[in-house]
Amino acid sequence: MVTEASSIAENLSLVKEKITSAADGRKGVELVCVSKTHPAERIAEAIAASQKIFGENRVQESEAKWPDLKAAHPGIRLHLIGSLQTNKVKNAIALFDVIETVDRPKLARALARERDAGHPCPDLYIQVNTGEEEQKAGIVPLDADDFIVLVRDELGLPVKGLMCIPPVDEEAALHFGLLKQIAERNGLEGLSMGMSADYETAIRFGATLVRVGSAIFGARSL
Ligand SMILES: *Cc1c(COP(=O)(O)O)cnc(C)c1O
Repeated sequence: MVTEASSIAENLSLVKEKITSAADGRKGVELVCVSKTHPAERIAEAIAASQKIFGENRVQESEAKWPDLKAAHPGIRLHLIGSLQTNKVKNAIALFDVIETVDRPKLARALARERDAGHPCPDLYIQVNTGEEEQKAGIVPLDADDFIVLVRDELGLPVKGLMCIPPVDEEAALHFGLLKQIAERNGLEGLSMGMSADYETAIRFGATLVRVGSAIFGARSL
C-alpha cells in the first residue's frame, strides 16, 4: 500500500527491492517510472532518488513537463507508453527516447518517413493487444508476426521488443506468457509488461521493462 506519508524515494526503493527479488538473479530488468498526471516537482523527487527511466502516455502533457527536466538532468530516458496519433509523430520523436506503442502499419510508416527525412528513430516496442479487446490499442496476436516483419525487416526500424497491457479482469500471467511466446518466435528480447499490481509476476514471466506508476507516486487523481 502506498500511503500519503511514504515518500517517492521510499516507494521507489521498495519497488526496486521487489524487482531485484522477482528477477532472482536475472540481469537487465529495468524500471520505467510512470509519471503521467504528476507534476514536474514530484518527478524531480524521483530523479533526485536516481531514477533515470520515465514513462508518459500523452505527447502534449510530456511536452509541457519534460523538455526542462531533460535539459536539467542529462541521461534521462523517456518512454511513450500511450497511443500515438500520426499527426503527433514529429513531436514524439523529438522528445521520446523509446516509443512502446507501435500498433499499426500507418504509424510504422509515419515513423519510417521521419527516419528517411533524417530524424533518428527512437527505440521501438510493438504493442500487442493480447486480450483482443476492442477498445484497446495494439496489434492482435494473429497479426503480430506479420507486423513485426513489416516494421523491423521491411521498414528497417529499430524494434527492441513487445509491450502489452492485459485485460483488467483476466489472469495477467496468461497474457505475459503469450507476449513472451510471440517475442521468442520472432527473435525479440525486450518485453515491456507488468504495472503496479503485477510487475513481480511479469518479471517471473521474463519482463525486461516494468511500467510502474501508482506504487511509486500514489494513486492518480485524474
Ligand atoms: C498508467 C500506465 C501504467 C502504470 O500503471 P500503474 O498501475 O499506476 O502502475 C503502465 N502502463 C501503461 C501503458 C499505463 O498507461
